[in-house]
Amino acid sequence: MTDCEICGAEIRGKAQIISVGTSKLRVCSTCVRHGTVVVETKKAKFVQPRNVKKRLYEQMDLEIEAGQALEEDYGKQVRNARGKAGLKQEELAKKINEKQSLLRKIENDEISPSEEIMRKIKRVLKPFL
Ligand SMILES: [Zn+2]
Repeated sequence: MTDCEICGAEIRGKAQIISVGTSKLRVCSTCVRHGTVVVETKKAKFVQPRNVKKRLYEQMDLEIEAGQALEEDYGKQVRNARGKAGLKQEELAKKINEKQSLLRKIENDEISPSEEIMRKIKRVLKPFL
């Protein structure tokens, strides 16, 4: 039997895996609300995407060092470039096939865009960045 990694109670039935910040915890059904439930996959699959992600970030760092990528105030740059391009937030969102709400969060620096989204934005706004 596995114990809940949050409250320590014995987990009856199937343990739930949740992500809290960067860590993943095996918890009981009561403690699930402390984090985001991770869809259960086989352990090997579980580890792999995280490694891939890490590699992507390393690559991004390299690009930033090479001066090819956008810097910290990415949101502001996107907003400015979008303005220069004469695109509304929803128009740019449509062009990159993402939700306007996501774009708004990126522009407000509420979230940092994934490499894929960043690439799509750069492709559209390149002449204006
Ligand atoms: Zn618990």
